[in-house]
Amino acid sequence: MQFISKLASGIEPYTAGEQPRERFVKLNTNENAYPPSPLVKRAIESFDADTLKLYPRPDSAPLRAEIARAEGVLPENVFVGNGSDEVLALSFPAFFDRDGKGVCIGKYTYSFYEVFAKLFDVSVNKIALNEDLSINLAGMYGDDCAGYLIANPNAPTGVGIGQTKMLEFVKSVPDRLVIADEAYMDFFGESLAPYVNRFKNLLVVKTFSKSYSLAGIRCGYAIGDPALISALTRIKDCFNSYPVDSLCSAVCIAALRDREYHRKTVEAIVEERERLCAELKKSGLFVPESSANFLFVKIKNAGEVYRKLKARGVLVRYWDKTFLSDFLRITVGLREENDVLLRELNKLL
Ligand code: PMP
Repeated sequence: MQFISKLASGIEPYTAGEQPRERFVKLNTNENAYPPSPLVKRAIESFDADTLKLYPRPDSAPLRAEIARAEGVLPENVFVGNGSDEVLALSFPAFFDRDGKGVCIGKYTYSFYEVFAKLFDVSVNKIALNEDLSINLAGMYGDDCAGYLIANPNAPTGVGIGQTKMLEFVKSVPDRLVIADEAYMDFFGESLAPYVNRFKNLLVVKTFSKSYSLAGIRCGYAIGDPALISALTRIKDCFNSYPVDSLCSAVCIAALRDREYHRKTVEAIVEERERLCAELKKSGLFVPESSANFLFVKIKNAGEVYRKLKARGVLVRYWDKTFLSDFLRITVGLREENDVLLRELNKLL
């Protein structure tokens, strides 16, 4: 193709879940069922638009300081980006070489990892999941790689690995970097963030999109040893000096300051997840134990069920790919939304 690079014409990009214009019971992209904290609304209302004439701070210092306070680390342990997708993307050139041993991931995990690897020409080794659909750490240990990228809880299965097991793993591979993608961790409560100062080979990546109900503002962060953080910063500064805009920064600081709202909404979702999971199991469906804000539900003729649910106004996520095609991924919504899902789904079983 004229003018187009081989990379741009050949790469298979990540496909994000639909963001439809019509009204759906929307349970397809793992957004939070609750709106952001009232403090976020106040921060937006009182935001001085005149300040937008200036570039934001390239070091995002106020936001990094607030994240550091919330996570119990120092600002030099924190890197921020335009969504955790960007933080994860920058991690590839920051930590993995083109001619290196590559990154080891779970066989079924967040599909963006492989796209980043292709984009940055990093080789990927995939390790089959355990039978219970958890990430197989023992299998990963045996892999000859430069580092690991582990979604914990995993996506799209929802299965989490407890802190003790993860820490044992991190300890056992001191010469390899372990990146823990904790996008859904607040719904599990087993974060490795408090351990980044103990383990120089540990990088924890988190997001405002899920537990803080801020998918629309685009902010994610990494926590790790200052050497890891400065590698990410060097790569960021080769790409975009200001990935986090001033409004985004004000919004995320406000969200972090409302610890009580965060705790309450996370708790409500976890409670609803357990109810929804129990109801789906009562309908005879296989649902692995989820530690996230979504459920991975095995269902006969999943593709057809997905289409029929959509026709009835309920949107869930379906992948037309081997293994995954036996499942639907369903975001935990508000109680009334989950009830609509259950009612419509039960009609189809
Ligand atoms: N990691 C995982 C496992 C995810 O599912 C997602 C959301 N699709 C992300 C990272 C990225 O989230 P965001 O860019 O919104 O922070």
